[in-house]
Amino acid sequence: MGRSCTAERHNGAGVEEDGAHNSRRKERVEEQSLSGKSMGKWTLGIETTAHTLSFGLVDNDGIPYPAASDTLRPDEGGIHPREAADHHKDVASDLFSQVLEKYDLSPSDIGAVAYSQGPGLGPCLRVGAAVARGLATKMGVPLIGVNHCVAHIEIGRQQCGCDDPVLLYVSGGNTQVIARLNGKYRVLGETLDIGIGNMLDKFARNQGIPFPGGPKIEQLANEYLARTPEPSMDGLQLPYAVRGMDLAFSGLLTAAQRLVDNGAPLDAVCWSLQEHAFASCVEVAERAMAHTGKTELLLGGGVACNQRIRTMCEEMSRDRDGESFAPPRMYCIDNGTMIALLGWIELHHRTTELEGSAIDQYLRTDQTPIVWS
Ligand code: AMP
Ligand code: MG
Repeated sequence: MGRSCTAERHNGAGVEEDGAHNSRRKERVEEQSLSGKSMGKWTLGIETTAHTLSFGLVDNDGIPYPAASDTLRPDEGGIHPREAADHHKDVASDLFSQVLEKYDLSPSDIGAVAYSQGPGLGPCLRVGAAVARGLATKMGVPLIGVNHCVAHIEIGRQQCGCDDPVLLYVSGGNTQVIARLNGKYRVLGETLDIGIGNMLDKFARNQGIPFPGGPKIEQLANEYLARTPEPSMDGLQLPYAVRGMDLAFSGLLTAAQRLVDNGAPLDAVCWSLQEHAFASCVEVAERAMAHTGKTELLLGGGVACNQRIRTMCEEMSRDRDGESFAPPRMYCIDNGTMIALLGWIELHHRTTELEGSAIDQYLRTDQTPIVWS
């Protein structure tokens, strides 16, 4: 069984989510923001692990509100960490004002500042930490540095209402299969080379498709399926990315590129690339469910926006009598709201002093003690 968890289910404020219910959601945002003033202090979350700067909020009760975000999209080439950091510095002040305006708040409504302490690109993380320190000091409120990967899990659990899932975390820089065991989110399998999103983006870039390449690859794969009633892997085979419980995507990238160079249609290769890459991730996730005995699967990370990987997860979970969950797309991609939510959860247990607020670009998912339920 599969579930796409809507923003309405848990926060009612999905203004940027999937069109159809937008006007109703906007009304609810207005209702919420009016009552926000009387709801006590809000937690601000600042996300800057890579190309996106994002400010998000949760209210006094930990209810998430959609973030204000700005993503650097290089005209050509990949992300240069220094350029992304400069972008974040340039837009931080305006974006902070924007998120306050969006919910009719003033700085005095903010009761704590959370930020991504790691993992991520050093220069980008440093900008976020500096902005967080500055705001917390100026407003005289607690500061809390949080683990970006754990934030993806907690926003997914909050949005989807699942309890103890295996998380398939598929983003630009990360690909991990994670499960909670003995007070930590343990990494049961992960990429040994590049993240699945980076692989898709690099393949796309080689074809002249700008960043982010994942959505365009999805579109081309769908076009191939629309014009091919009986798709077949003949002539489109690619290496499998599974290495035990781990994954490796660079061979897949090279082989897909070679297919295009040898004359295979681009949309057909996009379809094959998605099928191979996603099936590998789902296979590792399935084994993790089997080994841990868990029955819930939760998708997270930007690649979880893709409908094909969502469907594959649903089918696999259904076959195992389990359930698959996918948060609204605005909470799959990097966003400040998930940082605010994890900050709000952890503030019940700790804060970060200025001396301990340095970033850690190599922070591991399993380094953060999970002391909440
Ligand atoms: P994140 O690093 O979590 O912010 O996610 C960004 C990554 O998600 C980029 O590599 C994008 O190409 C990828 N992405 C976003 N939307 C899709 C999609 N519909 N299909 C595949 N990948 C996607
Ligand atoms: Mg991420």
